[in-house]
Amino acid sequence: MKSFIFGGIAVLLMMPVFAIAGQYDHEDFRFPREQSVTKDGYPTPLSGQPITKTPVIVKKTGVTLKKYPEHYIPGKEPLADKEMRVTILGSGSPTPVRRAQATSGYLVELGNGDNFIFDMGPGTPANLYSMGVHPALLDKLFIAHLHLDHTGGIFSLFDAMGWARNTPLQVWGPSGSTPELGTAEFTKNVRKAAEWHVQSKRNLLPTGGTEIVAHEIDVSKFSPENPRQLAYDKNGVKIYAFPVVHTIDGSMGYRLEWKGLSFAYTADSEISTFEAEQSKGADVWIHEVFPIPEEYALVTKMPLEHATNALAQHTTPKACA
Ligand SMILES: [Zn+2]
Repeated sequence: MKSFIFGGIAVLLMMPVFAIAGQYDHEDFRFPREQSVTKDGYPTPLSGQPITKTPVIVKKTGVTLKKYPEHYIPGKEPLADKEMRVTILGSGSPTPVRRAQATSGYLVELGNGDNFIFDMGPGTPANLYSMGVHPALLDKLFIAHLHLDHTGGIFSLFDAMGWARNTPLQVWGPSGSTPELGTAEFTKNVRKAAEWHVQSKRNLLPTGGTEIVAHEIDVSKFSPENPRQLAYDKNGVKIYAFPVVHTIDGSMGYRLEWKGLSFAYTADSEISTFEAEQSKGADVWIHEVFPIPEEYALVTKMPLEHATNALAQHTTPKACA
């Protein structure tokens, strides 16, 4: 880890944070509270266990002096103007093998105060909220594809916003080969399924947060001549969507670019030229790997034939390497 950083990116592997309700004031529900400091002067979690090591990617050295603690503690490290922080909220499969293991979800925080969520699978919301970002600022969700291990946490995100803000949840995602297979229809159905929830709170809470605005990226417009589409362009942040090969039409990857920093997320996919070209040169590239069929069948108890079929839509560790 370097002490000198300019335009740095920190990548964090999120681990569960446990707090005992009632022991602290309300702010402490979100964070492990420090009871001591490390030898380099940063607070240690109350549990005594660090959340994670903090790998830091340095783009340019010797410009700005910044010292990073060895371990990241949510809420204790405001980002500098030209920094990006990527937190892995979950990277597991639909069949987690450990209690604390969440499925797919990634938080990208920028030094300008913008926050972006890439996928919101089951188990990831708790890790998201424990990051200490105000829920009102967590209103931009980019879905790579509509498998439930990438989207199943959306109800929790939808619920939390009703308490924190009065503006809609913004969701970007792919179209499908037919309208009912696209992100707009998916979010419409999420909102519809939440109708009782919304009605029950109508006289208690602001209602502006109980809507979802879908921004559907038309996957039929991708081609070798048009390998990516600009999905988001605001405050100097550009997010491009590009196609990846995974099951049926409607699987994408994203590339975020801001102030010379870049983050690419290809989610579930087989290796393809599209994703290789669109991810090229990214400061942080997150790509899946899938266990070999024998291992997957053992853990999930599914027949080996089914596990083999599942792997065919993914990337082996060897192929990724
Ligand atoms: Zn998938």
